[in-house]
Amino acid sequence: MFSFKDKTVVVVGGTSGINLGVAKSFASAGAKVAVISRSQEKVDLAVASLQELGAEAIGASADVRDFDQLTEAINGFAEKFGKFDVVVSGAAGNFPARAMDMSPNAFASVVNIDLIGTFHAMKAVYPHLQKPGASVINISAPQSFIASEYQSHVSSAKAGVDMLTRSLAIEWGPEGIRVNSVIPGPIMDTGGMDKLAPTQGMQDAIVENVPLRRNGTSKDIGNCCLFLSSEFADYISGVLLPVDGAWSLGGYSVSMNALQTAMQ
Ligand code: NAP
Repeated sequence: MFSFKDKTVVVVGGTSGINLGVAKSFASAGAKVAVISRSQEKVDLAVASLQELGAEAIGASADVRDFDQLTEAINGFAEKFGKFDVVVSGAAGNFPARAMDMSPNAFASVVNIDLIGTFHAMKAVYPHLQKPGASVINISAPQSFIASEYQSHVSSAKAGVDMLTRSLAIEWGPEGIRVNSVIPGPIMDTGGMDKLAPTQGMQDAIVENVPLRRNGTSKDIGNCCLFLSSEFADYISGVLLPVDGAWSLGGYSVSMNALQTAMQ
């Protein structure tokens, strides 16, 4: 439905789970795709899987917490591919823990990857964005607006990511850059869900609380990113868009109770 032929897409944290799924959606739509994550092995596997889809794909290993390292990787992409039409930023970490059971370092690790890492990604890609025309998408999470036990670190970080999205939509709008957040629902076979819902019982409890009665797929998130980066979304900027089968309308909180029970 959407063609991204000759478009350049960068996916930060794009070597597994949802973000790799998003990278594959753009690759299948004809884009040139570049991915970044810490593990060189994961980068190589992701690049190979994108090339298998017929895409021109490159990758680099960098940690989003290290601004200089990330900038070097991003600059390398720009040298090879030119200006970026689409940037998706979604590197994240998670583990369930109550606030008072976390060391300051543990809390900071999630804030540093999710929030500061997103800021680093935004700052590093900005000089290379297509102006006007670029679409920037931050991958957020329902924790950004729904509080629950065991997720204070993620909630704090992702709420910050969403406000960064909205702030940049205002600052970058005059240059023709759109900035949006996509908020995935429960997407199985991902690093995130392996940690939050590690048992079949917990996964069943989640799907029962999704009004559309199915878990999401990374393709659902990829489809949304294709739409948001297409001309059909030309006037959409600064939105925080759940793609979750209506899970966040109430089911998320019930699902998190199952986690709470499992943790006791
Ligand atoms: P995942 O499978 O664990 O993938 C995370 C990706 O980020 C990997 O490519 C990882 O590669 C990279 N990454 C992690 N830390 C990094 C760092 N410090 N620097 C650079 N790259 C880093 O995660 P996921 O569950 O698919 O989640 C993807 C996004 O969706 C996250 O933003 C998450 O908050 C959001 N989300 C997920 C769900 C879900 O159901 N899974 C629901 C709502 C929101 P390396 O290990 O090689 O660094």
